[in-house]
Amino acid sequence: MPSLLLLGATGSIGTQTLDLLRELGGAHTVAGLAAQRSWELLLEQALEFEVPFVALTDPEAAAAIREHLPPGVHVFGGADALVEIARETEYDIALHGVVGAAGLRPSVAVLERGKKLALANKESLVLAGAHLMRIARENGAEIVPVDSEHSAVFQCLRGEDIGRVRRILLTASGGPFRAATRSEMDDATPASALKHPNWNMGPRITIGSATLMNKALEVIELHHLFGLGVDQIEVVIHPQSVVHSMVEFVDGSVIAQMGPPDMKGPIHYALHHPTRAPSALRGFDFETFRSLTFEAPDQARFPALALGFRCIEEGGDAGCVLNAADEIAVEAFLAGEIRFMDMARIHRSVLDRRSGRADSIDELLRSDETARAMARAEILQSPRPTARKH
Ligand code: MG
Repeated sequence: MPSLLLLGATGSIGTQTLDLLRELGGAHTVAGLAAQRSWELLLEQALEFEVPFVALTDPEAAAAIREHLPPGVHVFGGADALVEIARETEYDIALHGVVGAAGLRPSVAVLERGKKLALANKESLVLAGAHLMRIARENGAEIVPVDSEHSAVFQCLRGEDIGRVRRILLTASGGPFRAATRSEMDDATPASALKHPNWNMGPRITIGSATLMNKALEVIELHHLFGLGVDQIEVVIHPQSVVHSMVEFVDGSVIAQMGPPDMKGPIHYALHHPTRAPSALRGFDFETFRSLTFEAPDQARFPALALGFRCIEEGGDAGCVLNAADEIAVEAFLAGEIRFMDMARIHRSVLDRRSGRADSIDELLRSDETARAMARAEILQSPRPTARKH
């Protein structure tokens, strides 16, 4: 029975993973659960799954959970808690659903131990893809993507030669503003941007689906995972989110991976890889999926997309800086401090001013900090949305 360390247990990916484990009825044991600060939910999860190790990065949350857990359960607490639980406990697979740059160090810790990393934290690859792939190689570790599009490509490439790939067609739903006008997007509120048509995801990815920044980050993720150049990656809008991505080979043959838009699909695949295990997930339903459509993205309304390709071309800390600017911009948008289209200006402005060094993970994390400070300064100079009603 493989044992699972779940990083980001209380978030969208984490809770869906635990739902899946309940449905699977004991096919995996849970070796550890880690989160940032939601200690009450983590406590419930730890008691239900009888977990020997938990971790919380927030020290107060760690102190609170300690008071409620049985004495045999060890609690890692503080800023390095996720790295410590990944380094010091025994598990077969780490499923990593932490959101944001905070996920990078735990990814490194898992890979340095030569473990299997089921990776939903795309930021790890966006920030430090070259380093991460090298660390995985050097330690005999394996990265199995949980991001649905990358899981699709990973599945399409099984038994294939990556050198025979002409291009990858990375699908995107287009988000809530796929058919909106520019002026509707100027007036978008957090509530309207959070209404994703197909997927059930956390707030950061949902806003990233509205700006297409999520897709831009996925372009960078795809580049690192499979070693593909910009001319081998194309983004296609596919509003039904049934084709999770496609691989086109040099002979013109195209293999697509399909399924309902449900993150349990890629999570289930990653948990059982390299075998396939039965699941309760619905497969292909031609009554529901009667019409599958595809269209080109509108680069003018979604300027974020081009930035993903730009980051691959520029390399260095570009992906790291773009991600940091976006994390801060999304927070500010959700807090009502900036308008929807201001996020694009912040992305570009911070990326234009980056320093460029990326020789180590530490250097990248410093770039991340600097980019966050630049984004915050930019936000302070932006007029607040209420002051510009029209
Ligand atoms: Mg995705």
